[in-house]
Parts: sequence; C-alpha cells; structure tokens
Amino acid sequence: MPSAFLTASDIAAAVQGGQDPRPTVQAARQRAEADSSNALISVLSAEQVDAQLAELSRRLGAGEDLPLAGVPCVIKDNLNLTGTATTCGSRMLAQYVSPYTATAALRLQKAGAIVIGKANMDEFAMGSSTETSAFGPTLNPWDTARVPGGTSGGSAAAVACGLVPFSLGSDTGGSVRQPAGFTGVYGFKPTYGRVSRYGLVSHASSLDQIGPLATSARDLALILDAISGHDPQDATSLDAAPKFVSALGQDIKGLRVGVISESLGGNTAGVSAALGKMLDALRDLGATVGEVSLPTLQYAVAAYYLISTPEASSNLARYDGMVYGTRVDAADVNTSMSQARGQGFGREVKRRILIGTYALSSGYYDAYYSKAMKVRRLIADDFARAFGQYDLLITPTSPFPAFKRGEKVSDPVAMYAADVDTVAISLAGLPALSVPAGFETVDGKALPLGIQLIAPALADERLITVADALERSGAVTVSLAPS
Ligand code: GLN
Repeated sequence: MPSAFLTASDIAAAVQGGQDPRPTVQAARQRAEADSSNALISVLSAEQVDAQLAELSRRLGAGEDLPLAGVPCVIKDNLNLTGTATTCGSRMLAQYVSPYTATAALRLQKAGAIVIGKANMDEFAMGSSTETSAFGPTLNPWDTARVPGGTSGGSAAAVACGLVPFSLGSDTGGSVRQPAGFTGVYGFKPTYGRVSRYGLVSHASSLDQIGPLATSARDLALILDAISGHDPQDATSLDAAPKFVSALGQDIKGLRVGVISESLGGNTAGVSAALGKMLDALRDLGATVGEVSLPTLQYAVAAYYLISTPEASSNLARYDGMVYGTRVDAADVNTSMSQARGQGFGREVKRRILIGTYALSSGYYDAYYSKAMKVRRLIADDFARAFGQYDLLITPTSPFPAFKRGEKVSDPVAMYAADVDTVAISLAGLPALSVPAGFETVDGKALPLGIQLIAPALADERLITVADALERSGAVTVSLAPS
C-alpha cells in the first residue's frame, strides 16, 4: 500500500541542487488535468504555469534562497490568485476572475512554489464533506464512495492521491484538520492571526485561518515559515516571527500532554485505539500523559454555529450581482438582487444566512449571538486553565473516519455535530494540527484516522516539534492513497 513519493522538501532540495524544475511541475499539472477525484475546480493553463516557472528560473539564476523552489501545489478556491477563477465552490462566483493574489499564495510563490490548480471546497467553506460544492463533490481517494471531509476536501484529496506534495486550505471550524484526518495527511490550523487572511474570501472573519496540508512535518515547517508573519494588508495578522524549521529535530522529553476528557466518548473503536497508540508513542518519547476536563466544550458546536453564521450572513451580503456575484437581469434592482442571491447560492449557504440573520435580529440577539459570545469566552478560559497544567492537549480530529457521501448532507444537525472535536479550538483562536494516525477498516476498506494536537496561542511551532519527533521515532508515517 505505501508508495514512495516526493515531499516538498525533496523537490526543493533537488531544484536548489540544480535540477530542472519543469518536468516535475508539468507532470503535476498533467496529473491534475487527469484527476478523477474532482479534487480541483480549475487547473491553471500551461501558460500560467510556464510564466511562474520562468520567474522561478530567473530568481534561481539570481541565486535567491527559495525554500520551496519548484514545488507544485494547489490552493483552495477561496484564495485569490491573479488571473484565475476564484469560485468559492459557488455558482455565485462562477464568472469571477481574481484581480489580485492572496498574501499566503504570494508568499508561497516568493518561496519558489508553483501553483498549478484551485481546489474544490464546500460552497463558501460551509460544510464538512465537500458535498455542498456547486462543482460536484470531491471523492475520498481511499474509498470513492466516501467524502474527503470538508471544507478543504479538494486540498486534502489532492495531497492524499499524490497530485501535489502540499496544498493550502482554510479552516474556520475544522476545515483543514478534518479533511486531513479523513485522507491521511497532515493539516495545520495556525493561531488566529499568524497567517494573513488578505485575499481569502471571508466566511466568518473572527475564525478564518489559512493552513497547509502536507505529508511531513518538515514540509509543514517550510510552508509555515513561508506564509506566516505580519501583513500590513490584514490588520488582524500578528507580528510574530515564524520559527517553524528551527522547531524540527528537537526532543519532547518532559512534555506534559493532556487528553481532553470530553473527547473520549462517542468515538469509533478505531479512533479510540488510534488515540491510545498516539499516547503510547508520546510516552515512549518521554512525554507524560494526563487527562483534563474542559466542561464548556459541550457547548462548542452550538456556540460555533451561532457565531459563524451571523458573521457569514454579514460577509455574504456583498454577493448581490451588483459589485460581486453573477448579475441577473430583472425589471428593478430589488428583483435583480434577490434573484441573483436566490439562484447563485446553494441550500446550505442560504440556511447559514437565514440562521445568522435570525441570531442577530433584535429580540434574539441577546438570547443567541451575545450568549454564544459569552460561551466563546468561557471556552477560551477553559483552554487557558488546561494549558496551566499541560503543554499540549490532544483529541481525535473526528470521532469517526470518513463517512459515506449522502449520509449526512440532508441532515444539517448531524453534519454540524461532525465538527465536535475541532470547533472549540477555532473559537479559542488556538493552533492545532491533525496528525495521520493509522487506519480503521470499514466495509473492507482502510480509512485513515487523524489525531489532533493543540498548543497554546502562538506556540504553533511546538506542534511541529511534536509531529517531527513522532515521525522520526516511526510512530507517525504517511502513506498516499492507493491509485
Ligand atoms: N464545518 C464547519 C462549518 O461548516 C467548518 C467549516 C470551515 O472550517 N470552513 O462551518
């Protein structure tokens, strides 16, 4: 099953050593065009890729230090890239062509990476399965009857099936971590503010973060060093110097690891076993393991959906076919706008706008939005208390492996409940990493599992140290999906 594959570090090292980057990048572009998992909404044209390669070769020639030299990647289709369609998985933006590039993507290109495609996603990053995309669902490469998770399901599938060594996703309540877990790759959600959101189409602005999906701790470190750091274009971006590569190669003796009690119930047997194995591996590396309760986590899913939907309903007000969105010709402006919104948005997006508007409306604001904001504070306090005792917290990334397509899509409450392990971390603004943690066999198919490591705010580098130590000890291995 495991096959040899090139990591971003391997490719960059070869290119820095003088190898011609074009064959690798062009082969990735061809694989992307032939992809049968619907991981991508669009593939960049050969000319667009060649233009990036020409720029790369100019800069290599000038002797620039390019840590991701010649590494092909894809970015989620809610990240702007000049001259490409940025659809957000929505009919509403099917005609939109980006006039500028998101800071995170620009920084990847500055580090030498070559963007070859735009990854499929749930519409406007709302969902947990990539089934709400207007461009059809992405298939999980481990079992094509199953979802790859969401909302960065395309970014995850593209890495898991070997199209590219890494991708960017975005995570509002778990959208990088959960698909990483469902497809057997790493998925990193930084501390809120460590990566600029400039050029990321907003879902819920107080929660949105861009993060990488990749197959090794070293690759994550290279990518995070490239994309993190303050950006004058995003006032919420933090001025914290990234030190991810220097977090590699360290030991974790004495690290205090706390398992969150609230995440122990309701897991499949495979998930419970994977968590147990991960704890053993951490102990073998010299960590101590205890258990810690965060009682307010039981309210996290409710609070998340009462905070994210009001923000989404405000953010999505701009899509009315006038400045943004596909215009509909009608007798008057109101009809035009309402038809543009009626036709452009899918069911889940409309549901979010309705819930969010309701939660903000006078008479309900205090009961819903304001109460959820208080719960958010209590959740952050619970985490702060737990980090008084522990250096790292741990939970499964999801209580179960990838579910079947169609299983939850018509039951929004079940879909929302699938986010139980990830949303609290987003509400608290903390960094977390989903680490590949073996498989559970369901219906004769091996389905990947993920374990989530959580660090205190701004201690993102610690997650890389731990993942790297686990990898070096052999406790964590990544394998690509069988083709
Ligand atoms: N599943 C969550 C939602 O639908 C998280 C989405 C995300 O992180 N973008 O809101």
